[in-house]
Amino acid sequence: MAAITMTNIVKRYGDGFPAVNDVSLAVQDGEFMILVGPSGCGKSTLLRMIVGLEDITAGEMRIGDRLVNTVAPRQRNLSMVFQNYALYPHLTVFENIAFPLRLAKVPGDEVDRRVRQTAELLELTEHLDRKPANLSGGQRQRVAMGRAIVRDADAFLFDEPLSNLDAKLRGQMRTEISRLQRRLGVTTVYVTHDQTEAMTLGDRVAVLRKGELQQVGSPRELYEQP
Ligand code: ADP
Ligand code: ADP
Repeated sequence: MAAITMTNIVKRYGDGFPAVNDVSLAVQDGEFMILVGPSGCGKSTLLRMIVGLEDITAGEMRIGDRLVNTVAPRQRNLSMVFQNYALYPHLTVFENIAFPLRLAKVPGDEVDRRVRQTAELLELTEHLDRKPANLSGGQRQRVAMGRAIVRDADAFLFDEPLSNLDAKLRGQMRTEISRLQRRLGVTTVYVTHDQTEAMTLGDRVAVLRKGELQQVGSPRELYEQP
């Protein structure tokens, strides 16, 4: 686990107005931070700079004590859950969750132990031998989450992971993500444009507007000073 410290982060695509403009934000070790704001305000861009999928134009990005501006995504030891959580249709739930461990050449018995532990946490144990096509939407989303948390990552990054689900399922998954994050105590940054999600999920909320950080505080603090 590690803190994520952003200092005066700027992102310019081409020579237009910056997509992210001088953002400084410190996510504490173990904290659940929400990034919220309207479409186009720079949430995904900021998240992708944390993960390393986007170059940083100016500023410093630190994970723990390490300056990661030029560190490749694979070397950052972070786990990201995308909006379109593509599962491998020809692989079982077990192998979908195991995939990052196989890539990292983790020994078989260790893979087995970790996948079962993760499945237990996400209530997927009975479905380990199934293929994604035979799962419900919520179960598929949990498999995608399992794949992200099965590694010992320093932090989890979520990019609108629930936006393709219906309202009922979204509510359920919100509760689950929140429970899971508290149980694991892993530093988490969660992007959403959904106010309800922002105000119910995290420890603190960072509000972005037109690439700039407008407010940071606990949901209670934001609620009391509109
Ligand atoms: P979001 O759902 O986070 O708002 P978008 O649908 O705006 O994301 O963008 C989806 C993808 O298109 C992203 O990879 C983003 O970087 C890219 N993208 C967004 N805006 C532009 C743009 N003006 N020019 C090129 N690519 C863009
Ligand atoms: P959000 O996630 O809040 O919807 P984004 O980070 O996707 O916002 O986008 C922030 C701004 O940067 C938008 O104006 C978007 O069009 C622009 N943008 C995003 N990705 C690209 C890209 N690959 N190329 C050019 N412009 C982009």
